[in-house]
Amino acid sequence: MPELPEVETVRRGLQPVMEGRRIERAEVNRPDLRRPFPPRMAERLTGARVERLRRRSKYILADLSTGETLLIHLGMSGRMLISGDMVGGFHHPHPAPSKHDHVVLHMEGGARVTFNDARRFGSMDLIATEKAEEHPLLAGLGPEPLGNQFSETYLADRLKGRRTPIKAALLDQRVVAGLGNIYVCEVLHRAHIDPRRKAGQIAAKRVATLVPAIRDVLTEAIAAGGSSLRDYRQADGELGYFQHTFRVYDREGEPCPTPGCGGTIRRIVQSGRSTFFCPRCQR
Ligand SMILES: [Zn+2]
Repeated sequence: MPELPEVETVRRGLQPVMEGRRIERAEVNRPDLRRPFPPRMAERLTGARVERLRRRSKYILADLSTGETLLIHLGMSGRMLISGDMVGGFHHPHPAPSKHDHVVLHMEGGARVTFNDARRFGSMDLIATEKAEEHPLLAGLGPEPLGNQFSETYLADRLKGRRTPIKAALLDQRVVAGLGNIYVCEVLHRAHIDPRRKAGQIAAKRVATLVPAIRDVLTEAIAAGGSSLRDYRQADGELGYFQHTFRVYDREGEPCPTPGCGGTIRRIVQSGRSTFFCPRCQR
């Protein structure tokens, strides 16, 4: 499942072929994905210029010259493919059409952006740009972890009195937007906080270390995504799924990477999802 850094990498990859360019033709090959596409989606996209391509949490938002915004959610398995344009120095010819190519945007300048989703957990919607933040998927989201609103004071305030484990609190999208299972494990390891600890019982000084840990983990992952875009190893023009090494995620039984710790990474299940952590240096 793509998390914030992967979605940001997709956005950055799409930017040069989409931003400032007109959608010459939009092909919508089925009536729905996880939910129905908006009415007349192909017509409403065709001819519109993409003024700005931005991200909110794990969603990509393309603000159009028509006053509407195209909201893109990759879901579990959604992929964005670019073809027919110079991307990172490599030219990707248009691939043979696949039955999972649900939406194809033929961009001004010759590039083709294909949304391919075999499991159809993704979604796309069109909304008035000025009301975009009120969309059900966006309303109620907490601040962006890399934005100015997300601060030590804010986080301390939101965690105060919470009896849920810190891991669950950080996964709560109302507290902070866009953090998923993998990166929360990485963040808590970096901040040396036990994922089982009650959110409201972590000392203010330790809560303060969470904010830079979140920023560092995400920034490093986005940088790794950025170098994958530059290298452009993905021969098929696919964006967003890059090789990134995690310190604890999926490393059960391996030695803890904290210098001098000597602990072993453990896996436990919290709210039905795997947590990886080091019981020795995470307290
Ligand atoms: Zn450790």
